[in-house]
This record gives sequence, C-alpha cells and structure tokens, in this order.
Amino acid sequence: MKVTEHIENARQPLFSYEILPPRRGHSADKLMQIVNELLPLQPPYIDVTSHSARMLTKKCADGSSRQIVRKKRPGTISICGVIQNRYHIDTVAHLLCQGFSREETEDALIDLNFLGIQNVLALRGDTLAYEKDLAPDRSLNNYAADLVTQIHKLRQGEYLEGGQPGDIIDMCIGVAGYPEKHYESPDIETDIQFLKEKIEAGADYIVTQMFFENASFFAFVERVRAAGIQVPVIPGIKILRNLRQLERLPETFHIHIPEELKGEMLSAPEYGSEIGIRWAHRQVEGLLASGVKNIHFYIMNEVESVKKTLKKFTI
Ligand code: FAD
Repeated sequence: MKVTEHIENARQPLFSYEILPPRRGHSADKLMQIVNELLPLQPPYIDVTSHSARMLTKKCADGSSRQIVRKKRPGTISICGVIQNRYHIDTVAHLLCQGFSREETEDALIDLNFLGIQNVLALRGDTLAYEKDLAPDRSLNNYAADLVTQIHKLRQGEYLEGGQPGDIIDMCIGVAGYPEKHYESPDIETDIQFLKEKIEAGADYIVTQMFFENASFFAFVERVRAAGIQVPVIPGIKILRNLRQLERLPETFHIHIPEELKGEMLSAPEYGSEIGIRWAHRQVEGLLASGVKNIHFYIMNEVESVKKTLKKFTI
C-alpha cells in the first residue's frame, strides 16, 4: 500500500521507522533482527536509506593506504524487497540524484516495481566528495525536483528512451522538508519555494528532517500551507541517546538542539538515554495532540529507545 493510503485510512496514530542497510561486507541478518523487533509496534511502513559511493581510505597489507570509491551501505532495493515480501510490511526505498545516473534510477524503479514496492523517497543526496565520470550516453538529475519529474513520468509510462509509452510504474513519491530550512538555502522562504517545485513535479507527501522543538514543525507546516502546498507533512523524530550526539547531530544534519535539552543531558550524562526518551515522548504527545496522523522515527537501527518512547501510545 502507498504511504498516502496508509495516512488516509489511519484509524489510530501511525508510527513509521527509518533503517539503514548494513555496511558493505556484513550480512542482512542483524537488520532483519531489527525488523523482527519492530513487529510488535506494527509499523505501517519502513523506510530504507540509500547511500551513494564515497571516497574511502583502504589500508593495504604492506601498511600503505590507497583511495577507493565504494558505497559503504549498498542493498537498499533488495532490503526493501525482503522486508516487503517476507514480513508483508510496506517499504519506502530512498532514491538519490547524487551518485546515480537517470538511467540507473530508471532501472532501480523497474526493480522496485517488480518487487511490489510502491513507495519511494526522492532525494538529492549530499554533495559528493568526488566527481563520478558520466558516460556520454548517461544523464543526471541535479535536484530532487528533477528526480520527482522522472518518477512521475513513469507513472504515465514515459521511459527515458521516449517513443511509445511502456507499462506504468505507479510509485507514491515522498520528498524531504526542513523545518529549520535546508543548510544551503539562503532563507526559509526560498527553501519552501523549492519544496513547492517538488510537489508541483508530482510528489505526494513530505517527511521532515529531525527537529527537537515541535514549535519549529508547527511553524513549518503553517508556511507550507500558506505556500499552497496541501500534501501530508510527516514529522521526523530522532531520540537522543548520548552527549556525543549533542555535537554530531547539528554538525551532520544542520539542526538545532534546544538549550533545555542540552542542559539536561550535560547535567546527567549517565541518564542520556532516559532524557532523550522523555523528550521524544513529550514531542510525540504534542504532535498527536495537534492532530498529526503519522510520526516518522529515525531509529538508526536502534529499537529499544523507540519502544520505550512509544510504550504509552501503542497497544
Ligand atoms: P533538494 O530538494 O534538491 O534541495 C537541495 C537544496 O537545493 C536546498 O537548499 C534547496 O532549497 C535547493 N534547491 C532545490 N531546487 C533548486 C533549484 N532549482 N535551484 C537552486 N537551488 C535549488 N541522504 C542520503 O544520502 N540518503 C538518504 O537515504 C537520505 N534520506 C533522507 C531522508 C529525509 C527524510 C531527509 C530530510 C533527508 C535525507 N537525506 C538522505 C539527506 C538529503 O539527501 C540531504 O538533506 C540533501 O542535502 C538535500 O536533499 P533534498 O532532497 O532535500 O534536496
């Protein structure tokens, strides 16, 4: 089922989860264990992140090191396929512009369709640390809106080679939104205009970057609606666990952690996990009270804290 159908049909709050494929060289067994642990929470759908290739430094046997280009976490499509077909839980495959040609993306969408997957999250990805040479017969999507356009064309059977339409690939398309604005945008107004381009290109829903103050989500939704965007906006939540994340999350995701939460963590670091859970619990309460139907958790493959956060909200 599509994410938008899950939301339309929801009789109780929906809690969805985002997981990461295993690192190259590791089996998917642990990830499947995580899916097993999520089962009691009855996830309506699970997102699986995608990773473009990066320049990595590899240590050689003789002690020297060399640079190689590899995807650290391959396997998004097959993991979606396994979850969907083994556990009968809908999946959302993340697709990126960065590091993938449009031709590779079309093949990925064909694979997803054959596997029965009906949802994708269309993302630009972050700027790559290296430039992949593009073969002369290949083309690129620069922004997420271009990727949405490509996926939307397949909903009309329009493939890259043109000519007679082929069979339609009917994907529900999600896109990213940023309550605290995307770090490259000069201001939130510009960011919302580009968000609107993604919706006009055919996106069906928005899922937000993590935020730790509900007020920033509510203000974002107001701006989104004022811009004439009517699709569902799904808040994304991350549960803090330790002091290290106070620096790492703002650096990596360009988000703000409120002074109150920082203060609590710094004054009792040994209770970091409990403080994070209590904070997330309050966020969930506030979001549900405001009428939000679906909350998305960035669990980063750690299930215990989300189980504790949601204890009172799930059966
Ligand atoms: P876009 O919507 O293309 O926007 C990128 C920037 O360009 C913004 O500043 C926007 O305002 C600006 N912009 C847009 N269009 C134009 C234009 N025409 N001209 C000029 N500027 C423009 N990354 C991964 O690598 N893998 C993942 O699985 C992944 N999952 C994510 C899930 C969620 C819910 C979120 C919020 C992010 C995720 N990311 C992931 C990170 C994401 O790839 C980065 O945040 C990336 O920097 C931006 O992606 P986007 O799709 O929002 O880009």
